[in-house]
Amino acid sequence: MTAGRLRYLQFGERGPKTPAFRLVFEGGSQLVLTEAGAKKRAGVWLLNPEEAEAELGHLGPDALGLGAERLGEIRSGESRRLHSMLRDQRVIAGIGRAWANEILHHAKLSPYARTQDLSLDDVTRLAEAIDVELRRGLELRERGANDKRTYRVHDKLGEPCYVCGSPIARVDFEEHTIYYCPECQTGGRVLKDRRLSRLLR
Ligand SMILES: [Zn+2]
Repeated sequence: MTAGRLRYLQFGERGPKTPAFRLVFEGGSQLVLTEAGAKKRAGVWLLNPEEAEAELGHLGPDALGLGAERLGEIRSGESRRLHSMLRDQRVIAGIGRAWANEILHHAKLSPYARTQDLSLDDVTRLAEAIDVELRRGLELRERGANDKRTYRVHDKLGEPCYVCGSPIARVDFEEHTIYYCPECQTGGRVLKDRRLSRLLR
């Protein structure tokens, strides 16, 4: 999903001219895969059920509907920053960098918060935020909404936070760019770029 997109096209509906992959169904509807940018990492596999199970066996439980209790168990086995835990598909499946930003903002938690430092209340809020944000995203995406309309925090540097109106900030962390609201999430503190501070040390 970094640059790849899967689209289902009804019969007669116009789609990309040269998709990376196209599957045409009886009746003429299509499933098309495209990948933007120069880096080509998308792939298509044909697997039988046993192979599919082996292929997906490393994935954690589905993020949607995870619940506070299960999330509480998961985070007690983790010792790292929240943004990193949420994005790890082996731990929880289904959250990418953009939704990690949206979810943490909704839960009013710092992306740099340590998993082991969360209170019970924080875990409950985080579990609720995962469900609310993913449902919101699914609903919008199913109606065909683009990134700009779907995200409220991700990729919104300098734009007003939808809760408090402060400008959204950005920090680079582990190959990813995190977007957050300093007012809502970090008690007004601006997060330091971990990669930069590592280089300067
Ligand atoms: Zn805010």
